[in-house]
Amino acid sequence: MIKIGVLSLQGSVVEHMNSFSRISGVTAFEVKTAQDLDDISGLVLPGGESTTIGKLLKDFGLNAPVITKAKSGMPLWGTCAGMILMAKEISNESCTHLGLMDISVSRNAYGSQLDSFTACACIPAISPKDIHLVFIRAPWIEKAGEAVNILATVNGRMVAAQQENMLATSFHPELTEDLSFHKYFADMCKSYREQY
Ligand code: GLN
Repeated sequence: MIKIGVLSLQGSVVEHMNSFSRISGVTAFEVKTAQDLDDISGLVLPGGESTTIGKLLKDFGLNAPVITKAKSGMPLWGTCAGMILMAKEISNESCTHLGLMDISVSRNAYGSQLDSFTACACIPAISPKDIHLVFIRAPWIEKAGEAVNILATVNGRMVAAQQENMLATSFHPELTEDLSFHKYFADMCKSYREQY
């Protein structure tokens, strides 16, 4: 069994837990403390409100341990607010959170809640079939460093990327029936566990 942690401070935690529960060989686990990070093979930073989750990460003493784990190679997947938490730069804000991934993101880039939308995209690295994408007050990636592989572009905007053990998506695969991203991340976690 691969044990995958879902950061459970705020946001779409239950939805990620449900998606992972549909994948055989994977067990999902709610992470709330630094100790919870000890025996997981990967961590999901869910969507929600990045300012709130960022503050709670610090309040719960999780900031430094998550950074250490990610730097040691543990897979990390940020969806929407989670992507903002991982970014080295937030172009329309002065602060950053974990600052792990070499991307600059624009927060609430598409506008307000009313500007939330769905799209369909072919993302060959993830699935041979088109994937249904749900964007809710989403960020997009404005700039990405050389080490970053852009996985998906929608309407000319970069919305999914990977940098080694770090995966980031502007949208919410956990709000759809499609398990492709969860399976892809589970495979990253499996390789990590086999290595360490
Ligand atoms: N707009 C939110 C933020 O900036 C992210 C929205 C989401 O995660 N669905 O944190």
